[in-house]
Amino acid sequence: MRIDYQSILQQVAIFGQSSINKGKVADYIPELAKVELNHFGIAVDTLQGENFSVGDVNTKFSIQSISKVFSLTLAVSVLGEELWKRVGVEPSGNPFNSLVQLEFEKGIPRNPFINAGALVIADVIVSNFNDPKKEVLNFIRTLAGDTSIDFNLAVVASESEHGFNNRALVNFMKGFGNIHNDVETVLDLYFHVCSVEMTCKQLAKAFLLFANHGVLPVNSQQILTSGQAKRLNAIMLTCGFYDEAGEFAYRVGLPGKSGVGGGIAAFLPGELSVVTWSPGLNKFGNSVAGIHVLEMFTTLTNRSIF
Ligand code: GLN
Repeated sequence: MRIDYQSILQQVAIFGQSSINKGKVADYIPELAKVELNHFGIAVDTLQGENFSVGDVNTKFSIQSISKVFSLTLAVSVLGEELWKRVGVEPSGNPFNSLVQLEFEKGIPRNPFINAGALVIADVIVSNFNDPKKEVLNFIRTLAGDTSIDFNLAVVASESEHGFNNRALVNFMKGFGNIHNDVETVLDLYFHVCSVEMTCKQLAKAFLLFANHGVLPVNSQQILTSGQAKRLNAIMLTCGFYDEAGEFAYRVGLPGKSGVGGGIAAFLPGELSVVTWSPGLNKFGNSVAGIHVLEMFTTLTNRSIF
C-alpha cells in the first residue's frame, strides 16, 4: 500500500506544535539557551529518492549528540572490530554525561553514545587522522551531500568554557589508560563535532546511509560493511536515547539518535530516514515534541522495525 507521507507529516506536525512548549531548551551550554522554544520541523527522505517535509526544516540547529553517530561511523570504518575493546555496546541506564559506571568498568564506557564513549571515539579519531576536525566535518558533508555544513564556533567556545563534566570524564578515562592523546585535543574535537549545525533536511539525507545498510544511496559508495551497519543500527536502537532508550523503542520503534539541540534522527532500515527538530527537551535531554511526533508517525504509517 502506498503511503501518503506528506499528508501524514501534516497530521503529525499538529501534535508537534501542541508539544512545543512542554520541554526546556538545554541551558548548561549557554549558547544553546539562546534558541527559541517555538520551533518544530519534520523531514522524511526515502530510499526511492522522495523527500517530504513540514515546518522548520531549513533552519540550522546544533546537532550535538547526533554527531556521535557520524564520529562512530568514521571510527568504525577505519578501525573495524578493534574499536570494541575500548568501548562497550550496552545501554547505560544512566544520564548521557554520567561518570559513575566508569570507575567499576575501568575506564571503558558502556557505549559510544554516552559522552564518555564519544570522547573515546574522539580520541580514536585524533590518533588516526592528521586533521581530525576537518576529517569529521568532510565526512558529514559527504553523507549529507552538502559542503555548506560547518561548525558553530560560538557553541564550541560556550561548551568548552562550561565543559567541566566532559573534562572530568576524559581525565578519568586517561587515568585508566583509555585516552591516548592530549585531553584538550580530544575535547576540542568533541566540542567542534557536537557544534556542527544542520537542518532537518540535511540530517534526513545523511541518515539514509543507515537506512541503506551502510551504502550511500547517491553513489552506491560502501561506507560500512553490512555487518558494521547492523551493529551501528542496533546500538542506535539500544543506546541512542540514553536512559530513555527503552521508552523510545517502546513508543516509536525505530533506531535513531537524539541531541540536546532538540534534533532526533531516526530511520526505518530498507525504507526511509525521518528527522525532527524541536528544542524543548525532557529531563533525559531528548526533544519532547520530537518523540511525540515520531510516535504518531510510526502509528499513522503503521511502520516500525517491529
Ligand atoms: N555536547 C553535549 C555534551 O557533551 C552533547 C550532549 C547531548 O546532545 N546529549 O554535553
